[in-house]
Amino acid sequence: MRTQVAIIGGGPSGLLLGQLLHRRGIDAVVLERKTRDYVLGRVRAGVLEAGLVGLMEEAGVADRLHREGYVHDGTQIACAGEMFHIDFRALTGKPVIVYGQTEVTRDLYDAREAVDARTEFEVDHVAIHDADTERPHVTYDQHGATHRLDCDFVAGCDGFHGISRQTIPLGIRREYEKTSPFGWLGILSRTPPVYDELIYANSDRGFALCSMRNENLSRYYVQCALSDHPEDWTDTAFWQELKRRIPPEAAARLVTGPSIEKSIAPLRSFVSEPMRWGRLFLCGDAAHIVPPTGAKGLNTAASDVHYLHRGLTQFYEDGDPEGIDRYSERALLRVWKAERFSWWFSSLMHRYPDQSPFDLKMQQADIAFLRDNAAQQQAFAENYVGLPY
Ligand SMILES: Cc1cc2nc3c(=O)[nH]c(=O)nc-3n(C[C@H](O)[C@H](O)[C@H](O)COP(=O)(O)OP(=O)(O)OC[C@H]3O[C@@H](n4cnc5c(N)ncnc54)[C@H](O)[C@@H]3O)c2cc1C
Repeated sequence: MRTQVAIIGGGPSGLLLGQLLHRRGIDAVVLERKTRDYVLGRVRAGVLEAGLVGLMEEAGVADRLHREGYVHDGTQIACAGEMFHIDFRALTGKPVIVYGQTEVTRDLYDAREAVDARTEFEVDHVAIHDADTERPHVTYDQHGATHRLDCDFVAGCDGFHGISRQTIPLGIRREYEKTSPFGWLGILSRTPPVYDELIYANSDRGFALCSMRNENLSRYYVQCALSDHPEDWTDTAFWQELKRRIPPEAAARLVTGPSIEKSIAPLRSFVSEPMRWGRLFLCGDAAHIVPPTGAKGLNTAASDVHYLHRGLTQFYEDGDPEGIDRYSERALLRVWKAERFSWWFSSLMHRYPDQSPFDLKMQQADIAFLRDNAAQQQAFAENYVGLPY
């Protein structure tokens, strides 16, 4: 088999890239390790920057997003039982849109199927060969048979645990990592959101986030120990803990109900450089991870897709390799800014085991500065709605 771009991974990065390339007449095959239903069942991100929304529009898959997504003009920051508002629209002219990653992925799969674009599910033992030559190829097993896919380029969109990053020799790869000594316990419940904007809460008992998917589907998180397991937490224990961490006025109106999903995510900052080796390009979580504070994971994957699809289009339409040659440099410049914001916002909002009384005072002063200083709010809002591509 032959294609122009072999895309490894059918998560949001791979699917969005595939759809954007398809719109420019560039053929791509997506190889996905899991089933479609499995990918669609993964509850993850839910806040979309304007840049990602623009890419969905360019890919021709934004109709439902505009119909069903929730426009958020700002967010709430809570500390010591009080809340203040940061007005994205007033500060940047842009909102964010609340629309689940599951829905983004569903729209992209539907679009792929509508144009008969090829996606191979349940592939195993994917291996990238000759990526440092002009004739790379990919091999994989599927339903007991081994296949070979020849291509011009390979896009490694296979997430943090994928094989694409590992294909880049250790002598070339540089990895930067910072892990947090806690995780986020998240639940999804069929209850109305407690507030019409997200609430990021710093409390003596640790961080909490009140998020949402739609008017009857809420997503809530509390900072928890890394040693905790979701089954250690009954729904009642979760709701009690959440109420203690958010301002009393929010706790009083919180509607609780049974969880329909409960999971613990570790918090990690990670970047692997470079994001290109020969004809292999890394995109999204395959190259970098951010802690979810600030909702940058999916959005940073989208900015990679922007640079890569522009570079590939430039190569195929104009014969100009400038975009692919500078892909890694351009993507990383924005990735590191998203890493910085996510790291800073995480350190502002969480309780750390080794936090001294001085550290706590610094955190409180930082939050007060954000509440009272217009320039700091401006910087926050620009980062939150997404830095320009
Ligand atoms: C639990 C969790 C919660 C999150 N919450 C948020 C949030 O609230 N806000 C936010 O902005 N971000 C969040 N993120 C991050 C966000 O979901 C990711 O940044 C986003 O999914 C990245 O998309 P991706 O396509 O690059 O990678 P992925 O979504 O990981 O997709 C990679 C795909 O590749 C497939 N794959 C893996 N290995 C192979 C292989 N060898 N061969 C073929 N296919 C393979 C996988 O099955 C998967 O479908 C969260 C992530 C996790 C894990």
